[in-house]
Amino acid sequence: MPELPDVEVFRRYLEATSLHQEIKGLEVDDGRVIRGSLAELERSLRGKKLSAARRHGKHLFAAADGGWLELHFGMTGSLDYHRDAADDPPYSHAVIRFANGFRLAFVDRRKLGHLGWVPDLEAYLEEEDLGPDALSLDREGFRRLAEGRRGQVKCWLMDQSALAGLGNVYSDEVLFQAGIPPRRPVAELSGQDLDALFDALHRVADSAIEAGVDPGRMPDDFLVPRRQPGAACPRCGTPLEDRKVCGRTSYRCPRCQPG
Ligand SMILES: [Zn+2]
Repeated sequence: MPELPDVEVFRRYLEATSLHQEIKGLEVDDGRVIRGSLAELERSLRGKKLSAARRHGKHLFAAADGGWLELHFGMTGSLDYHRDAADDPPYSHAVIRFANGFRLAFVDRRKLGHLGWVPDLEAYLEEEDLGPDALSLDREGFRRLAEGRRGQVKCWLMDQSALAGLGNVYSDEVLFQAGIPPRRPVAELSGQDLDALFDALHRVADSAIEAGVDPGRMPDDFLVPRRQPGAACPRCGTPLEDRKVCGRTSYRCPRCQPG
């Protein structure tokens, strides 16, 4: 499921391929990937150019005159920019056609993602109850965000209304890199723990984005490529533990993340 690093890679891809070209039209073969009115989305995009790409948490927005194209990647969404309709990948359920003949396909096998039209971005973030983007805070802001929070640290990191961007995989990675077990209550985190989490969050996001979110290119001490039962901790070799935390299968090293 695309999380902050994946969506940042999509943002850079969209920015590198699809800005500043006139949109000729939108082809949709399954209306389930459109949120809101397809007619409004088409009308809002036709004849316009996308001028900037912005990410907030797991949401991607592309500015067009008078509003934003919103893209959410659900479980299996991705983007593909190419020249010919014959090159549309399977499950290209919505395709933006540009005047230069190129196509930007929204590819989504499970159709849990969507495209939509957002006239007012700030109002939308509020309606969706999204917290600050996970990379937008400074160290102090991150510490303040934890104040008065209840529950387990992993649930907090995955709560999009608290902090937008992390899901199951990258919250595990951040906790592993910070040496904190996923079930520790937020209220028990020291200032030092919060600083370790903040640093891990930035290091993990930067490294994953730098690797193009390819697990094979991630740093040697990352958990992401080792998320399977029986795998060993990349730091100490101890077998990783997989347990349900906040309803999701969570990996941790009992030795590097004691408690
Ligand atoms: Zn370990």
